Amino acid sequence: MSSNSGKLSVTILGSGTCVPSLKRSACSVLIRTGDNILLFDTGAGTMRRLLEAGVEIYDVSFVFYSHFHPDHTGELASFLFSNKYPDESRRKSPLTLTAGSGFAEFFENLKRLYGHWIELDSGLLNIVEFDNTHGDEHQYDDFKVETLPMEHNPESIGYRVAGSGGTSVVYSGDTDYSDHLVTLAKDADLLICESALPDELKVKGHLTPSRAGEIAARANVGKLVLTHFYPECDGVDIERECRKTYAGPLVLAEDLMEIEI
Ligand SMILES: [Zn+2]
Ligand SMILES: [Zn+2]
Repeated sequence: MSSNSGKLSVTILGSGTCVPSLKRSACSVLIRTGDNILLFDTGAGTMRRLLEAGVEIYDVSFVFYSHFHPDHTGELASFLFSNKYPDESRRKSPLTLTAGSGFAEFFENLKRLYGHWIELDSGLLNIVEFDNTHGDEHQYDDFKVETLPMEHNPESIGYRVAGSGGTSVVYSGDTDYSDHLVTLAKDADLLICESALPDELKVKGHLTPSRAGEIAARANVGKLVLTHFYPECDGVDIERECRKTYAGPLVLAEDLMEIEI
């Protein structure tokens, strides 16, 4: 029986980017399903934020990657190395790493660099590739994951997680405006959406507050969380920009913020 009746709980671990910041660690989101602890992306600083959130690295059972950029995958090798401490039997339960097409090769390349330093005991590490041309769907013991391709990198996918209690959370990863994201987030309780730069500094491959708001409004989500803030967002009224397109519940992410669903 799940400790929280299958309700998902969400903690923002890193609301930042590749830019070093004391306030905003690089991208990572923690979701507890009751029986499982999931991470979405592991940018630099993730393990420190996990400690601050009261979670042991050995208790993480799944890591889902949105794409391969270092601000989202940078701490993967360190994470695996740390899971071997103090000896190779330290982690007792399996860890599954998942990302879009090309992830097996990405991981092989990482192993070419680090070899056995990042290999876990036999049976403890699963590498899973999700299809990122049409999207994918997987049912795990107490949660379900659906994906669709996003507008950022060829391997980019967004995730929708549904707990056994019926709540659903969508994580965009990095993306430009995407009809797929509207589809993926349709009527979700929560959309955690990137909003990298202010409206006036829009770049290809990323969203802004009003574009993210447009997606949230079209998808009719229960709540929108904006995250992945570059320093250019400091001093800009992000909420006002988002309100041009979205009137529903809105949260601007900060590290270690727990999001109510
Ligand atoms: Zn990226
Ligand atoms: Zn990014």
